[in-house]
Amino acid sequence: MISINEAIAIIKENIPFPTVEEQSLAQAVGRYLADDIHAPEPSPRYTNSAMDGYAVRWQDVSGLTPERPVRLTFIGESRAGEPFAGTVGQREAVRISTGAMLPAGADTVIRLEDTLEEAQGVVINVAKRQGQDVRHRGEEFGEGALLLRRGTRIAAPQAALLASVGIDPVRVFAPCTIALLVTGSELVATGSGIADHQIRDSNTVMLRAAIQEAGATLISCLRVADESQATAIAIGQAQADIILCTGGVSVGRHDHVKEAAEANGFAPLFWRVRQKPGKPLYFARKGDTLLFGLPGNPVSAFMCFAHYVRPLIGALAGLPFGWPTVSAQAVSDIANNGNRPNMIRVRRADAPSSGSYGITSAEKQGSHMLTSLADADGYIILEPGQTVLADDRIEMYQYDFRREPSI
Ligand code: AMP
Ligand code: MG
Repeated sequence: MISINEAIAIIKENIPFPTVEEQSLAQAVGRYLADDIHAPEPSPRYTNSAMDGYAVRWQDVSGLTPERPVRLTFIGESRAGEPFAGTVGQREAVRISTGAMLPAGADTVIRLEDTLEEAQGVVINVAKRQGQDVRHRGEEFGEGALLLRRGTRIAAPQAALLASVGIDPVRVFAPCTIALLVTGSELVATGSGIADHQIRDSNTVMLRAAIQEAGATLISCLRVADESQATAIAIGQAQADIILCTGGVSVGRHDHVKEAAEANGFAPLFWRVRQKPGKPLYFARKGDTLLFGLPGNPVSAFMCFAHYVRPLIGALAGLPFGWPTVSAQAVSDIANNGNRPNMIRVRRADAPSSGSYGITSAEKQGSHMLTSLADADGYIILEPGQTVLADDRIEMYQYDFRREPSI
């Protein structure tokens, strides 16, 4: 049996290089950049006006006073998408819209509210400084500037930035693919009738949801009975970055996942982790395909998914291997009286100190008790004999399904 940290280290040593693919920007939203992005062009691309008003020469307006405004001749207009073709000469003005190209000759923009339109021209009432309300080419960034780093998640602002400099398509990491294999002769699908000795299959729907939340792509989902050959065939047919099995990894006579994986050429990397819940966790590899045997108990399966599979899915999509964590403060004592490290499900509660994220232990911690998960916001890991006293701080691993803005 190995420790939690040893299991994590083995998984990290076995992460295949993520697949890179080219995607249209629209399809790339939610993915992670495979390259550093440098600006292919400056921003703004051309010098333009920050305001609706008049493009003028500073030397024509610099001397005005409230008593002696300046009159300029109106010679045309520069609109968004329709620039003025000529040059602004002495005592001339061009009407200009926000974002429109600054015409040649002009160096300053006078806002509309500081002007008065007349029959042949325009009266300039106020002019504060040379270059006012002009956005210069390259003032935000020049050509070649680093815009976004490899591994950045493409959300709305990043997609807009890429679009603004004409990068479409873009190279991103491909989401990791998963084949789900749910084992157990006692299982029946939800929605079917059930006999007294049967168990409703909750792992299928739970893991499907968790896979989706983690950003991976589920490509197949199969339920198999506890039969050695059927399990071996199902594993042999699964094609994905990760084959995720549940059930059948304990020491029972009807637990076939390990032997079925190894019959298919998978090399075992670990089996059994000193932890509660989830002790029977199994991990194996064949080429670039990784296989997890999660325990069948729904809580154990979910905890193993959260702590081991979820960060691997992220790493395969180009993220650093890790967990979303919160520095939490215990509201009352939380103890591990057992003999294995315990992943204790905790709930958010009113914190003893203002501004803290308070936690309390979920009441029922049994690995067959789904309420311990459904009521929880995350989990903490306590060593055997360790107690977190009320008011003490501890790192909490936050569930994806409960991730909230920090306080
Ligand atoms: P196993 O790991 O196969 O020994 O299963 C451990 C416990 O989890 C048993 O009580 C199973 O009935 C239960 N179990 C296994 N698979 C599922 C599942 N898909 N949904 C709900 N319970 C399950
Ligand atoms: Mg079983």
